[in-house]
Amino acid sequence: MSCEQAERDLDAYLDGELDAGVAMTVRNHLGTCAACRRHVVEREALSRLVETAPYYSAPERLRARVVAQTTRFRFVRRAMMLAAAAALAVSAGGGMMLLRSASTFVDAIADDAVDSHVRSLMANHLFDVQSTDQHTVKPWFQGKLDFSPPVVDLASNGFPLVGGRLDFLGGRPVAALVYQRQKHAINVFVSPEHDDASARAAVRSVRGFHVHHWTHGGMSFWAVSDVNDSELTEFSRALGAS
Ligand SMILES: [Zn+2]
Repeated sequence: MSCEQAERDLDAYLDGELDAGVAMTVRNHLGTCAACRRHVVEREALSRLVETAPYYSAPERLRARVVAQTTRFRFVRRAMMLAAAAALAVSAGGGMMLLRSASTFVDAIADDAVDSHVRSLMANHLFDVQSTDQHTVKPWFQGKLDFSPPVVDLASNGFPLVGGRLDFLGGRPVAALVYQRQKHAINVFVSPEHDDASARAAVRSVRGFHVHHWTHGGMSFWAVSDVNDSELTEFSRALGAS
């Protein structure tokens, strides 16, 4: 997809009016094109302005939809702020400050993972492909990502695979795998391991959600859920060991 096409479809995309195939093409383009992501940020700023204008009171459902769509791109803004902070640190020659911005980056990814998890549940968009068969879910990603995520069913461990979708984490396209534990969903975001601070394993709690991060076989994994911490640990171990 060209930038012109993306630009033309962007409003409809943000309004959720495109059919799934076109929406995915736009999403993929945004994942690789910083210029078009900037357009999204501009539109976001505009819609915020409209929302807060005194003469305009959006109905609650519309407001919720706008919020759900615009939060998808909050990370871009956050990442830009972090980049600016890092540039400042370099010019000040402060090694400590650089170190701090690196850990802030991991925090931002964890925060972003929780955002994506919440959004997938709120917007009822857990799946682009809904299947308990790993041999259906894995090939679905083919041609949609420039890597092949490992997909395993963990039903025998009490965590059945239920589907997957394309998502973004840290401004990068990722495979989101969805597992189930009783009534709870577990989102796992998988992408190639990048040479940055996110390579460190981490367990944390963000806004009441548990977030586990690890790397394995050249891939980076972020698991998010509201299951209790010991269950998510059990899940992460099972997935990490598979
Ligand atoms: Zn573009």
